[in-house]
Amino acid sequence: MSEQTIPYKIYLSEQEIPTAWYNVRADMKTKPAPLLNPGTCQPLTAEEMSGIFCEELVKQELDNDTAFIPIPQEIQDFYKMYRPAPLVRAYCLEKALDTPAKIYYKFEGNNTSGSHKLNSAIAQAYYAKKQGLKGVTTETGAGQWGTALSMACAYLGLDCKVYMVKVSYEQKPFRREVMRTYGASVVPSPSMETNVGRKILAEHPGTTGSLGCAISEAVEVAVSNPGYRYVLGSVLNQVLLHQSVIGLEAKAALDKYGVKPDIIIGCAGGGSNLGGLISPFMGEKLRGEADYRFIAVEPASCPSFTRGKFAYDFCDTGMICPLAKMYTLGSSFIPSPNHAGGLRFHGMSTVLSQLYHDGYMEAVAVEQTSVFKAAEQFARVEGILPAPESSHAIRVAIDEALKCKETGEEKTILFGLTGTGYFDLVAYQQYNDGTMTDYIPTDEDLAAGFAALPQVPGQE
Ligand SMILES: *Cc1c(COP(=O)(O)O)cnc(C)c1O
Repeated sequence: MSEQTIPYKIYLSEQEIPTAWYNVRADMKTKPAPLLNPGTCQPLTAEEMSGIFCEELVKQELDNDTAFIPIPQEIQDFYKMYRPAPLVRAYCLEKALDTPAKIYYKFEGNNTSGSHKLNSAIAQAYYAKKQGLKGVTTETGAGQWGTALSMACAYLGLDCKVYMVKVSYEQKPFRREVMRTYGASVVPSPSMETNVGRKILAEHPGTTGSLGCAISEAVEVAVSNPGYRYVLGSVLNQVLLHQSVIGLEAKAALDKYGVKPDIIIGCAGGGSNLGGLISPFMGEKLRGEADYRFIAVEPASCPSFTRGKFAYDFCDTGMICPLAKMYTLGSSFIPSPNHAGGLRFHGMSTVLSQLYHDGYMEAVAVEQTSVFKAAEQFARVEGILPAPESSHAIRVAIDEALKCKETGEEKTILFGLTGTGYFDLVAYQQYNDGTMTDYIPTDEDLAAGFAALPQVPGQE
């Protein structure tokens, strides 16, 4: 098929929105390690998990074998309000870079929450509602997840309590107000409302908070209030499962034009958008049907894959959550406050961690000033103001396209454009003023986090 026939935007019809999520674990030879009970160091049972998570989500969390899990009709209907998401051919960026590479991006920012997180928020809220619960609690960092969950809870009539990392609560009052408009209650974390919050504040007065602290608080509130469960916007297997809708749509759109990407790139915070984008392609690679290069992009200031350890660790700072085997910087790791680009979580999805460990995926760490430079370049030619998180993927997509310019190779690059940056203008301001700095943790900084990794019998 000739070049010209590929449109700027490849839309699917509503009928082509996937009706089942794809569970990449079903095709993994080495399954991700199970979550462990931090007290006994034994795999968490469904019964233990059901105190924290909704029952149906527990099933999804533990299911390593079912390849396709049907998307309930109500969730499909909700998806229709903002999906299918466009797959865009970045003709303007290609031209600006003067590269022979062909660049595509899957844009997930076309909803009020401004990111892909709504794909899982609606699923998690739906299962909570179906179970007859009153409400859900969660944490949010930059605020996209809290916003997405607030929207989903408002739609279904569920109570929503959000613990927001304090530095974001203060830097992003507008996000907070969006959440409140959708009916959520928003508390800066660490707070004096929970035992774990009070403890963290006593030990680290003046802390700007972290996702790990906020998770501890949200879990404590969920397990101590009847009718409430905790929901998480990334990292968990169930979240990757829901986000597979991104990759399934992207693949269906590319298949329409017979396009096969050589390189697939995504930013990695907890791994959900990347996991979702690559899932169907990774499935082909795992089954030996096709080959792709997958690249996870993380901030140099929070380098879980590239400098972390593959070990069991807590998902939260308060050390009350289950242990997950993942690439981690240690649950006590808190990125430097000058880090503006999101992707602040200390750990990583166990699925992606296992795939990376087994050599199916690569990872690169990039500095935030170079990320914002890529964001600026992208915004000026492609029009969309990207989220700083998404801009990590843009950075590496541009770098790979520039390599093609040197070698003359016509590679096809697909990257995930996870969201928009309208609420990240404090960070853009720092970039525009030239006051943005790069902080890369030293080996000593990281050693402190590793020293606090939990001892798990049978793990080196
Ligand atoms: C939350 C978020 C991310 C990172 O989370 P993952 O779980 O790693 O996908 C990336 N981009 C945007 C816009 C986000 O809101």
